[in-house]
Amino acid sequence: MKQFWDIKSVHQDKILLFRMGDFFEMFFDDAVKAAPVIGIALTQRNKKSQDETPMCGVPHHSIAGPINKLLAAGFKVAICDQLEDPKMAKGIVKRGVTRVLTPGMVYDSDTLDGTKPHYLVSLDSSSISFLDTTTGEAFFFKSQNTTELLRFVQILPVAEIVVSQDDEALLKSVSGVLISLHEDHADALHPLLKNEAPLSAARLISYVKQLSGEESLATLSPFVERDLEHRLDISGTVMRHLEVFSTYKGEGHGSLFYSINRTQTSAGSRLLRQWLSFPLRDEKAIEQRLDSVEFWRNHVLELKRVRQILGQMGDIERRLGKISQPQCNGRDLLALAGSIHAGVSALEIFVNAAKTTANFEPLRELAYKIERTIVEEPPLATKQGYLIRQGISSELDELIELSTHSQALVARMEAEEKEKTGISSLKIRYNNVFGYYIEITNTHKDKAPAHYQRKQTLTNAERYCTDELVELERKVLSANTKRADLEFEFFEALRKQILSQCPDLLKLAHECSEVDVISSLAWLSLEEKYVRPTFSKDGALKLKASRHPVVEQTVKKNFVANDIELRKHSCLLLTGPNMAGKSTLMRQVALTSILAQMGSYVPCDEASLPIFDAIFTRIGASDQLSEGLSTFMVEMTETSAMLKNATKDSLVILDEVGRGTSTFDGMCLAQSILEHLLSDVKALTFFATHYHELTSLDQSFGQITNAHMTVAERNGEIRFLHTLVKGPALKSYGVQVAELAGLPASVTKRAKSLLRDIESKRVQASSQLSLLDSLSFETEEIHSDVAAPVMPENWKNLIDEVEKLPLMNMSPLEAMNQIAKWKEIV
Ligand code: ADP
Repeated sequence: MKQFWDIKSVHQDKILLFRMGDFFEMFFDDAVKAAPVIGIALTQRNKKSQDETPMCGVPHHSIAGPINKLLAAGFKVAICDQLEDPKMAKGIVKRGVTRVLTPGMVYDSDTLDGTKPHYLVSLDSSSISFLDTTTGEAFFFKSQNTTELLRFVQILPVAEIVVSQDDEALLKSVSGVLISLHEDHADALHPLLKNEAPLSAARLISYVKQLSGEESLATLSPFVERDLEHRLDISGTVMRHLEVFSTYKGEGHGSLFYSINRTQTSAGSRLLRQWLSFPLRDEKAIEQRLDSVEFWRNHVLELKRVRQILGQMGDIERRLGKISQPQCNGRDLLALAGSIHAGVSALEIFVNAAKTTANFEPLRELAYKIERTIVEEPPLATKQGYLIRQGISSELDELIELSTHSQALVARMEAEEKEKTGISSLKIRYNNVFGYYIEITNTHKDKAPAHYQRKQTLTNAERYCTDELVELERKVLSANTKRADLEFEFFEALRKQILSQCPDLLKLAHECSEVDVISSLAWLSLEEKYVRPTFSKDGALKLKASRHPVVEQTVKKNFVANDIELRKHSCLLLTGPNMAGKSTLMRQVALTSILAQMGSYVPCDEASLPIFDAIFTRIGASDQLSEGLSTFMVEMTETSAMLKNATKDSLVILDEVGRGTSTFDGMCLAQSILEHLLSDVKALTFFATHYHELTSLDQSFGQITNAHMTVAERNGEIRFLHTLVKGPALKSYGVQVAELAGLPASVTKRAKSLLRDIESKRVQASSQLSLLDSLSFETEEIHSDVAAPVMPENWKNLIDEVEKLPLMNMSPLEAMNQIAKWKEIV
């Protein structure tokens, strides 16, 4: 326990996994905290002696799962191993911490979701850096605006944030992520810090090096700058609204990513995720990707083959991450070799089809070398021999010969002793405590020769040794140990060689993921009948037979495609009942734009779109009710951000804005927001509303096109046709939808009668309203070239009279009389 406390005192903020024999044990508070997270029993150290030290433990060969659980729960973990062979130890076995892990690091990447990166992040006042130690991916963004930098924390999956104490204040708005303080940073000349990498990147390198050692840096790529300017701006909130990576329920299934992901490798799906998070804005770059997709569509045979080969390729990036750690084994190396072959074959198909050249020999050679060196089914352990093939070195071959031969010698001695003693059940066995021994069951123990020296008595057998056996043991053990040591040396040399070829291997991995993503987009476009989009110069949007990429795959043939057309800076004002398909239509426009700017074909028969700088959405409050937030406040905060940040090049989608407050407030807000968008922001806008009153705005704003989704009504029953047509919706059908939903007949009947009442009152009121309307139109005529609404003849006379009234020449009494006359008319 003294040794435990000595080590624990330097790792107080971590769960200490303390190796004792075949187990990693945790004690005291560590045990209390860890047991429920790992899901194992908490016990006492030594029940009999009333030692109440709480403890729990996990077998040494299966710590990956428990460690990942601890990291996922936000704990840091220190692994304290035995540093010498317990057999050789004098006194207490020497122990020390060999590895420290934090949530941003991973012990065994095989247990991670292959489609997602795992980022360790660092922030300073002018940059944010991301590092995935499992794949080596490293990049940064620069900006003087912290809010802008922090938006990436929302978009990308962040496991841990590392900052200096001075920069911690920058993170005050961030919650739910582990924040670790780390003051040091790597030297600016470090090979991983090219391209003017910022301090935040240097801090990450120093942090990883301190925790996992210099060698773990071998598989990292140098930091590269990612450009903020050339990305289609979609915030984390917008991604959630549009269900890009997960649905409202938090499920991957049903998201855009899930629906379009046809990649064959984990690395490919990580790259697709990245492309979806960072759609482009540079037309040339987008067209380049589209050209590549088209290339594979024109080479369908090769496309099929390449997909088949990629399907057999493992995850080179994550495998390399594992190989950079000392606990990797022969199977990791063989898996890498298999992936190299598959990767090179995939690229060869591409190179041949594209009629270019490339030299893959050095990589193939490395794969062959691994396969020539490691046996076909290597053990999990690397220090006990039996993992290197014969034929690598004559010295090793001799030892292998001897150790195999010695096994035969033991077998021969066993046969001889059986023969001499006449005991057929006699066995020669081995254990760690006694080494080799002869075992004779009690039935035959009287027949044991005199020169057998008794070593141990069991309930049903006796164990002996002889001088000859001791001599044999010495020979066997020394051959075995030498063989194991030498094999480990060869294993390590091979591992080092692999690590030294890391840059080439990572390049291969990246090229394969790109081929995977591009060819999968080609496959998707063929499977789902997508078309290549073009980009309009005049800011207009024109989608022919546009479909929703996710809904279409669920409802299949029943999906109703729609033509959607908008001039630049204009607005489609959608009215009509719930369930008609308004949200679906608007979202499909946004998703189509994201797909197009990512370089993908799109779900349409023809598509021409502007290149947007950003997408903003405000999607119905009720969709978020489950989050328990003050929904109206959320709605207005998001709308306000939208109005401030959207530009004439943005796509704006507003679904039922104002629904979170009383009808009247909501309607006025909705109208003023729409007016602001049209006259000041001038973004391309889709606006769905149930405030029917807004449809008349098209008279004052020529940019507005009224439209609705058709509904068929027969004998009071309705059916949604999901077809987009011009013009405002005639009725809201709210009561009919309620009927469809099974509301009791008495309730819907009463609602219908209330509705009739209100509608008849509206008709009476409308003539008065139109007077007000006409007055306001006259003052705002600059907006409008539309004739004022028709009004009763006598009202026109009345206005004439008001205008001509010689007010200055009238006495108060005359004026009052005049007003009284008007009152009669009104
Ligand atoms: P709204 O926003 O008008 O209330 P939604 O867009 O939420 O309506 O659509 C309601 C339902 O109709 C959804 O379940 C959706 O799957 C289906 N739907 C919407 N548009 C279409 C379409 N074009 N073709 C087929 N089904 C559709």
